[in-house]
Amino acid sequence: MRVTSGDALIELLRARTVVLTTHINPDGDALGSMIALYLFLQSRSIQVQMWLDDNLPRMYSFLPEIEKIVRPPASTLQVDLFVVLDAGDASRTGISATSYRGRSLNIDHHLSNRDFADLTVVDETVAATGVIILRMLEEADCGISKQIANCLYTAIATDCGFFRYANTDTQTFYAAARLVSYGAEPNWISEQLQVMPLSKITALSKVLDTLEVSGCGRVALIEVPPEVNSSDVEDTEGFIDYPRNIFGVEVAIMFKPSKEKQTVKVSFRSKRLNVSDFARSLGGGGHARAAGCTLKGTLPEVKSMVLIRVLSALREAGL
Ligand code: AMP
Ligand code: MN
Ligand code: MN
Repeated sequence: MRVTSGDALIELLRARTVVLTTHINPDGDALGSMIALYLFLQSRSIQVQMWLDDNLPRMYSFLPEIEKIVRPPASTLQVDLFVVLDAGDASRTGISATSYRGRSLNIDHHLSNRDFADLTVVDETVAATGVIILRMLEEADCGISKQIANCLYTAIATDCGFFRYANTDTQTFYAAARLVSYGAEPNWISEQLQVMPLSKITALSKVLDTLEVSGCGRVALIEVPPEVNSSDVEDTEGFIDYPRNIFGVEVAIMFKPSKEKQTVKVSFRSKRLNVSDFARSLGGGGHARAAGCTLKGTLPEVKSMVLIRVLSALREAGL
């Protein structure tokens, strides 16, 4: 059932035990929104835990309380409310339905949201889930701490490419401005996110070595080679922006194979094509200009299938 952020706030404040979770391959919106809500619920003396069925990217280790995020337990936990943030599909959390018993609440902004929870707050007009969380905390009217402001600023700024992507609008700037008034530090946050280990630059150079251009320059493809995937380089965040930014490229695709699972994670970025619809047709989802899916098969199989389909989607869209 679709509910408003105000209704969701009432449900949260009624609960005594809450588990928060978000999508695997977590980004700044996933982690920032989850920790902000965690800090808020804790301040209201609600028993709250954060679960994530994945490793934590090191680049977000500056976020407060990030070390409190744990893997879902093996046994079933009874909770009043199980909250899924920044994911439009239960499978994106990697958490099995047997891990918890209780009502579920989904707070999200994906165009491809599948209404999987008992209660759903979805606003696809906002650039980040963090905007919805900010709105909820403002409705609670109990003041927003500097820590919460930094988490939500990180959530919003990362999901709109630091106010550069097409999803950046007045709501985005207005939310960011309010967060700065609550104590968020934009300069400190961007500094934390810009610094990276030398190994990430080395990985970037290996990934860019795989660059191919197809469809008369309209599609650019990169892949994450096994030596990068198996090294301790955990994140390839931002790599896809390089092919996406090539002059004349409409769609950039990054392929990240997982040897153990025999799957390939595929990321799409576009300038005009709606890649959310496209990724959804392949079992994934996302936003109009940033989407992804995970496909079974070997890298060559997945690559040729995806490329053929992207080229025909571009043709159909007249691009
Ligand atoms: P990424 O390419 O991983 O940065 O993801 C870009 C966008 O697509 C994000 O909003 C993701 O939530 C979404 N996305 C990526 N992979 C999937 C998937 N397998 N299923 C649904 N949405 C996805
Ligand atoms: Mn996300
Ligand atoms: Mn998001």
